[in-house]
Amino acid sequence: MIILYEIEKSLYVNITNRCPCNCTFCLRNEGDEVNGSGSLWLEREPSLEEILNDFKKHDLSKYSEVVFCGYGEPLERIEEVIEISKYIKSISPIKIRINTNGLGDLIHKKNTAKMLENIVDEVSISLNAPSKEEYFELCKPKFGIESFESLLSFAKEAKKYVKEVQFSIVDDISKDQIERCKTLTKSLEIPLRIREKQ
Ligand code: SF4
Repeated sequence: MIILYEIEKSLYVNITNRCPCNCTFCLRNEGDEVNGSGSLWLEREPSLEEILNDFKKHDLSKYSEVVFCGYGEPLERIEEVIEISKYIKSISPIKIRINTNGLGDLIHKKNTAKMLENIVDEVSISLNAPSKEEYFELCKPKFGIESFESLLSFAKEAKKYVKEVQFSIVDDISKDQIERCKTLTKSLEIPLRIREKQ
């Protein structure tokens, strides 16, 4: 079971395969590895103890950041994310980032951005599309078409509690959609990162 894996100078944390979305572009539809990580499908979710034990085997000074990402939505296990981050912060000044679909509030039915205060240093939110209709078509969230509004609300809240917040999109949507994502993110004063499709 692969819990921690490296990509360049980042140490990635894979703690769940659960996700409320079914994005058309999800890497999970095409394979089970990222950059030679080995299979990221978890036969079961690792316990907090197993995750912390794995961290103890790694020298964090070798890395530039720890990233909660994996083959699923890390905020499905927000309580564990908090405990793991507290442990990391107790032993190292390393930057902690979480890559999320921004639907934590719908998953847990509460304000989850606030729970990340002093826990993570950066939140990167997959925006994916410029409108709720397009988002619903692309990501098929189980919470329905209003999911996009919750994602935007999570992002606005995250700005209050986390040092760095950014949106990301993949560059295989149309030019028009990319331009509208730029307009939207500018109006929210949140930077937008445009990622190349892998
Ligand atoms: S949110 Fe991420 S993990 Fe979930 S289906 Fe979409 S791309 Fe895959």
